[in-house]
Amino acid sequence: MVLTNTPPTAELQALDAAHHMHPFTANTALGKKGARIITRADGVRLTDSEGEELIDGMAGLWCVNIGYGRAELAEAAARQMRELPYYNTFFQTSHVPALQLAAKLAELAPGDLNHVFFAGSGSEANDTNIRMIRQYWALKGQPERRVIIARRNGYHGSSMGSASLGGMAAMHAQGGLPIPDIVHIDQPYWWGEGGDTTPEEFGRARARQLEEMILAIGPERVAGFIGEPVQGAGGVIIPPESYWPEIQRIVAQYGILLIADEVITGFGRLGEWFGSQSYGIRPHIMTIAKGLSSGYQPIGGSIVCDEVAQTIGQDEFNHGYTYSGHPVAAAVALENLRILQEEHVIERVRSDTAPCLAQAWGALADHPLVGEAVSRGMMASLALTPDKAVRAKFDAAPGTVGQICREFSFGNNLVMRHVGDRMVIAPPLVITAGDIDELVARARRTLDQTHAYLQAEGMLKAAA
Ligand SMILES: *Cc1c(COP(=O)(O)O)cnc(C)c1O
Repeated sequence: MVLTNTPPTAELQALDAAHHMHPFTANTALGKKGARIITRADGVRLTDSEGEELIDGMAGLWCVNIGYGRAELAEAAARQMRELPYYNTFFQTSHVPALQLAAKLAELAPGDLNHVFFAGSGSEANDTNIRMIRQYWALKGQPERRVIIARRNGYHGSSMGSASLGGMAAMHAQGGLPIPDIVHIDQPYWWGEGGDTTPEEFGRARARQLEEMILAIGPERVAGFIGEPVQGAGGVIIPPESYWPEIQRIVAQYGILLIADEVITGFGRLGEWFGSQSYGIRPHIMTIAKGLSSGYQPIGGSIVCDEVAQTIGQDEFNHGYTYSGHPVAAAVALENLRILQEEHVIERVRSDTAPCLAQAWGALADHPLVGEAVSRGMMASLALTPDKAVRAKFDAAPGTVGQICREFSFGNNLVMRHVGDRMVIAPPLVITAGDIDELVARARRTLDQTHAYLQAEGMLKAAA
């Protein structure tokens, strides 16, 4: 056990409950229960204030791609703080970390995605994208092209703009969203919504909703489409193979801009530098954050193609963040990219650990509670179901069973998240085959406990 000199857990929990408002949390209930206090981490493992060790199946929040405890990143931050802790790039100045990171990203990104606008997070970057593509069309003499098409159950962030792009009903229900001129089509979620169609037919049909929406709105009013190559927060929804080629065809046919939100899928998560490469997507803009710095510093941005960047450059773009390209965050991101590249982390995911995860995780499909067990790269999910033969949903309110399963998982010292009644993981990319086996063993134990509990409580009932 690691000895730490932190105060007792109960004391920390009381302070947390009294003063700390947690994101996406019913804080009163959490305050009564007490948050689990994470005190340190190394590799793929977290330690809490009780000295318990957890496998972090979520890489923090989908972001700690190189794993915890890399001293090189701490040193890069310290070095940069001593040399130039802060400067901005608003008024005809630049600094070395920001320009070097922009150049590095241009080198890594596919095609002519050669220009970077920095932000502090993925949410900020998507707000930038909304303004940038509308300004692009205004400069092209088509200011009426303002509508952005996004997807239900997509996730693009939590600010007013990015949450409007997102298609989370529970988010739209609070605070007056979405903002004007953002509309949503359905997601390519075959297991949950595919009915009697084949996955391939369904993928094409869901992509064609984009064309139907463009025609309904009028092509001359549509600015662009945004989507995650694989939906993350929506439940690790892996689209049918037919989906993205059809989206790509429609985007080209109507000449709208395509934004790939790579905040999760970027930086190796799917076994390529970017998820767009994994799916043959050719975006005009990619949103990045999370794995860009492996979460060691808050930083995000938009990687922008030549045509859009050159057009935007014709006039002053009245937009920017105090921390755009923050030198410490940029220096840490550069060090993170160096490690991903020099240690061949992404190649190892592709050739070694992703196939290993696919096999071990896929085997969970034989569990009576599991309707599908799917993965792509280092993202994986399970659909929980009371009757897998008909892809049934539970009689209990959506998310009830997922929450129960999540509690058992936490008790087994595995961080696995539930999204409704799907269970999801996205471990650090550096996870080893041995740790994958341990993770999946804990997941199976969790499923067994959940199944026994549901049976005892009479909850293995399908919705009518
Ligand atoms: C997390 C996430 C965001 C928002 O990023 P923040 O850094 O939390 O603002 C945007 N898009 C996707 C796909 C994400 O997963």
